[in-house]
Amino acid sequence: MRQRSWCIAFCFVPLLAVMPSEIVQAQQHFNGSKAYEYARQFAAIGPRWPTGPGHIKAEQFIRDHFKHDQLEEDTFMVNTPIGPVTMRNFIVRFPGTKNGVIVLGTHYETNYPLRNINFVGANDGAATTGLLMAIADQLRGKKLDGYSVWLVFFDGEEAIEKWSASDSTYGSRHLAAKWGGDGTLNRIKAFVLADMIGDKDLDIQRESRSTGWLVDDVAKAAKKFGYERYFFQSEEPVDDDHLPFVQRGVPSIDVIDLDYGPNNSYHHTVQDTMDKVSAHSLTIDGDVFVETIRLINQR
Ligand SMILES: [Zn+2]
Repeated sequence: MRQRSWCIAFCFVPLLAVMPSEIVQAQQHFNGSKAYEYARQFAAIGPRWPTGPGHIKAEQFIRDHFKHDQLEEDTFMVNTPIGPVTMRNFIVRFPGTKNGVIVLGTHYETNYPLRNINFVGANDGAATTGLLMAIADQLRGKKLDGYSVWLVFFDGEEAIEKWSASDSTYGSRHLAAKWGGDGTLNRIKAFVLADMIGDKDLDIQRESRSTGWLVDDVAKAAKKFGYERYFFQSEEPVDDDHLPFVQRGVPSIDVIDLDYGPNNSYHHTVQDTMDKVSAHSLTIDGDVFVETIRLINQR
């Protein structure tokens, strides 16, 4: 009895001491449900192919979300296989105390060649748009203690007719050239691109041309949360919006899961709908992106 009453008196102390920190840790996870909800609303707009009516609604959705932020519209004209097309990137700036910028990017539009099927790009475009919007909610309203963070929503990532170097990544090629010309690229410490990582079955590849130290930081961030199994189990090169930045010497990574559905059957098909996306995957992404920002700031 004596032994037991000693235990009642003292053994509960460490238990009580452990519980609040566990609760605090649980609260520190990124709000993937919010990212999912933004993505759901964005995908509900419908197809967002350049020149289409859904694209105009998608642009307005982005404007509305960032109406109280430093939002820049980067409008440009490109020559495409269907003739000249006006496209629009959106850039949102959250200022930091350190001299330098971390850019997070996604594309937001859907494929022109898929305009006649109901392709809403839930994972391909909408999920990462929702992810960046939810990250913005976390950055808003305070001076960041580190580098500035800029969010870029690229237009025209997808091919207008058939993927090639000249028929793809219109928005990122335009912005990388523009920022190369005006000196902005020199201020960018890292560019982290998110693409197709809302997939319920998350399996992020190591993209071959991504910058080594940045891949290491993302891996380290994933490890902090015990997410190693979702990251970099395989490696392959992927052509995406990071390449125009890689080619200009900006440290860049494409965080992408190109393996979507059985035999990739959801990729660029009507199967790419919100039921294939999960808030849990977006929590994983958000945790890792926010921690990656912290790690880049420590370098
Ligand atoms: Zn795509």
